Amino acid sequence: MSTTPSLPYRYGTEDQFAQRAAATFTLEDFGSALVLSGPCPRCGQPMDFTVVEELFRAAPGAAPGPAAPVVMYCTAETVYEGSPEGHTGCGAYWSLLLPSGAGG
Ligand SMILES: [Zn+2]
Repeated sequence: MSTTPSLPYRYGTEDQFAQRAAATFTLEDFGSALVLSGPCPRCGQPMDFTVVEELFRAAPGAAPGPAAPVVMYCTAETVYEGSPEGHTGCGAYWSLLLPSGAGG
């Protein structure tokens, strides 16, 4: 890899990350997990993020509620300047509101 990423690693979030991700990410439902794929709203690299069932399904006996927010973070395979040892991704994170009823 000879290309130098233009962004430094920075752990943080912005309101627009969630807005952009909501507009661009696609969601695939595998039953026991959801996989969200799209460009990272900060660095623009393609990434995907798996949400396991436990995070989006209400506990048995719990009252069904609206969508549960899930915290996503950049999982791009690029290593950015300043990233922690062994970490990839640009450090962006944001919360995603899954549609209610996701996963069946
Ligand atoms: Zn990123």
